Amino acid sequence: MFAIMQLETDERREFRRKMRSKCDFVCKFCQRRFTKSYNLMIHERSHKDDITFTCDICGKTFKRQDNLKQHRFRGQSIPC
Ligand SMILES: [Zn+2]
Ligand SMILES: [Zn+2]
Repeated sequence: MFAIMQLETDERREFRRKMRSKCDFVCKFCQRRFTKSYNLMIHERSHKDDITFTCDICGKTFKRQDNLKQHRFRGQSIPC
């Protein structure tokens, strides 16, 4: 009887573990899964950082800071 009870509890524990693994922290941008919320936070920051470079004049977004610098330089060089 005790052996059966232990088996049942083990199965339940495994089932709970599987359920937890399914309920992982998922990235909103690329659907990548993480076991810890801290890792997901850092990963999502990398996505947000990519879009951070925004032109103050026209609001155009750039994935790289170099592209934004080129865009601003062009805007300054060409008078409105
Ligand atoms: Zn992601
Ligand atoms: Zn601009």
